[in-house]
Amino acid sequence: MRKPFICGNWKMNTNRAEAVALAEATAAAAAEVTVVEVGACPPACYLEAVLAAAQGTPLVVGGQNMYFQEKGAFTGEIAGPMLADLGCTTVILGHSERRHVFGEPDDLISKKVHAAFACGLKPILCVGELIEQRRAGETETVVRRHVATGLEGLSPEQAAAIVIAYEPVWAIGTGETATPDQAQKVHAFIRTLLADLYDARLAQAVRIQYGGSVKPENAYDLMREPDIDGALVGGASLKADSFAAIIAEAAKAKRL
Ligand code: PEP
Repeated sequence: MRKPFICGNWKMNTNRAEAVALAEATAAAAAEVTVVEVGACPPACYLEAVLAAAQGTPLVVGGQNMYFQEKGAFTGEIAGPMLADLGCTTVILGHSERRHVFGEPDDLISKKVHAAFACGLKPILCVGELIEQRRAGETETVVRRHVATGLEGLSPEQAAAIVIAYEPVWAIGTGETATPDQAQKVHAFIRTLLADLYDARLAQAVRIQYGGSVKPENAYDLMREPDIDGALVGGASLKADSFAAIIAEAAKAKRL
């Protein structure tokens, strides 16, 4: 049985006081539910404050990105062991903003996935197509490439522990959400890919989040789909009330 994982990606938002208040409220919401795992990925400079606010609560705290080298002359970068040293247990990798704003290629993301596992962090690997690619009928080709390169060289134990976030780029921050049916089709496709790359049992174990304008109003219908195991939430995770409502909707959907 896969435990749904609802994780907030705060991106480059909040100041320190806002981050602490949001972390406290999110940790309280996380403590209300047992059927859903809840996480938050704040800006790196507020990780320590957020980790302190989350201490003793079930809130999982992670980084939004990391570099694949352990240390060295890489100005401005953060190493996986640094995130782990702070107390992070997860890290978002290959987010569409990293891929498309900062030009991160698949092979770099693959190196980051390996580096994350090497220091004990569980990656949330983001995959998903651009609108032009969807219109051209290339969704499965793009998602296959992102998943295959992202998982390349991982042991079955590592692959089983990864979280994949299917985030159609056209739905991120746009207010336009994939319909539950559109999302479910791609999630089911990812599961068949996992079965091909590993085996059917592993494919059933991997959690696949949906991301792209998830809000309290659409969370229930998305989470009711059999292959959607939670959400990666941007904008709506910045408001404590709406994020708590998404968590509650996911718990309701998965309990039924
Ligand atoms: C995201 O940043 O991963 C995301 C899904 O953002 P939003 O929920 O704002 O679309």
